[in-house]
Amino acid sequence: MVQRILDYVNGSWTDAGASDFLNVWNPASGAAIGSVAMTPREAVAQAVDAGFAAYLDWRRTPAGTRIQPLFKLKALLEAHLDELARIITDECGKTFKESVAEMQRGIENIEVASGMPALIQGYNNEDIARGIDEHMFRQPLGVVTAITPFNFPGMIPLWFLPYAVATGNCFILKPSERVPMTSARLFELIDQAGFPRGVIQLVNGGKDTVDALLDHPLVKAVSFVGSTPVAKYIYSRATANGKRAQCQGGAKNPVVILPDADMDMTTRIVADSAFGCAGQRCLAASVAITVGEARNIFTEQIADAAASRKVGYGLDSATEMGPVITKDSKARIEGIIAGAQQSGVNVLVDGRQKTVSGYEEGNWVFPTILQDVPPESVPATTEIFGPVLSMMHAASVEQAIALVNARAFGNMACIFTSSGAAARQFRYEANAGNVGINIGVAAPMAFFPFSGWNESFFGDLHAQSHHGVEFYTQTKVVVERWPQEWSRQF
Ligand code: NAD
Repeated sequence: MVQRILDYVNGSWTDAGASDFLNVWNPASGAAIGSVAMTPREAVAQAVDAGFAAYLDWRRTPAGTRIQPLFKLKALLEAHLDELARIITDECGKTFKESVAEMQRGIENIEVASGMPALIQGYNNEDIARGIDEHMFRQPLGVVTAITPFNFPGMIPLWFLPYAVATGNCFILKPSERVPMTSARLFELIDQAGFPRGVIQLVNGGKDTVDALLDHPLVKAVSFVGSTPVAKYIYSRATANGKRAQCQGGAKNPVVILPDADMDMTTRIVADSAFGCAGQRCLAASVAITVGEARNIFTEQIADAAASRKVGYGLDSATEMGPVITKDSKARIEGIIAGAQQSGVNVLVDGRQKTVSGYEEGNWVFPTILQDVPPESVPATTEIFGPVLSMMHAASVEQAIALVNARAFGNMACIFTSSGAAARQFRYEANAGNVGINIGVAAPMAFFPFSGWNESFFGDLHAQSHHGVEFYTQTKVVVERWPQEWSRQF
């Protein structure tokens, strides 16, 4: 059955007067499962106005009261975890286990933001000058928005929403039009959590809907997660319009494997990083750099792990990897593999032209390994966003770090070793904001900022934790003196 996906504006569900609707596809079966409204500019303005009206009272609501519906939302999400995970798998393709894990990572942000009465505290100095006190307060901004990508439809909205509303802002989500069904269910639960009308809203759509949010003067801050070209566009348009912006972009994540690493563990972890979520993670390992004697053993083991990974529909319990998101994605990924092959790269494990029985219409690309990829080539420098691991080799740790630091992106870099000295050198010198040591997906938990660098991030304050609190508040400093003290001063 094809489900019609609506907006949630000022506490009600609406088709936003949209004349344009887009199909939502199950990437494993190839079937249309939903149809989503493309919210026009006028309807976006109505949502922003409703958000602003709600903000006038919400900002005066004590933080301790503002977090009560967040506790309720956490309980509702936990009670509906499996159901939400099934929706994620159906529209996004990842395995059920991966979908559960992403929801849990999202819920952790609700837990952190629920500490807002303490997190939002300012600071002060009594007698900063004789008889004069100075205080810093944090105040909310107004209406804020988040524009999110397809690959974590449950988790990424929760990188922003809990912090935004707990700090006293009103929040509008614009999810990816390719996976709007998870947000639709999330908002049915938000509706039950007890937030006042207009505090949290959902508008669906694509570029035009985003542009309407970026241009509206009452939208004060924009959070974005997605590809680097769109991150750059959104950052420049939002900031040119005087808004705060935090824009997390794409990635090309290298992992370095030293000969002293535990090879079995390393192979397992790197395979999970490269092929988990079909390589559609911004923290997926996409380049493996072996050092010295690690080359032969790691190559042999990772090739076995790639070839034996069980690919299929994410709700089948034996499945270890699902499909890629669209037919266009599949064609683009296969094109990059073909181009590499034509330029002389050896396709050690080839995931093209494979299918899954019973799901012949799915967007299947099986795990693929490209061997001895030149550092300047397309597969070594371009975000493929599919289950393709490019292999390179270095003679020393220094040479490996130089290869890591030659990239334009800076989302993640990892090293596998049992040497503390090599690990420390890597941690210190790697030009990336999230670093893993014997970790394959160095995803900061909600208590830490998600710290992409370089072409992977545009802005100052990242998602999650204290960065979220700072991003969604403006500081106000009050300097005060009172008459009795005035007379004592002079
Ligand atoms: P995308 O950039 O195509 O879309 C992201 C969002 O931007 C969607 O909501 C989409 O509707 C909107 N959008 C797309 N084109 C637009 C345009 N021209 N103008 C305005 N809005 C536009 O990204 P995607 O394909 O959905 O997601 C995959 C990308 O996201 C990958 O590059 C991945 O690395 C990145 N990502 C990054 C992080 C991170 O934390 N750095 C996390 C997850 C995903």
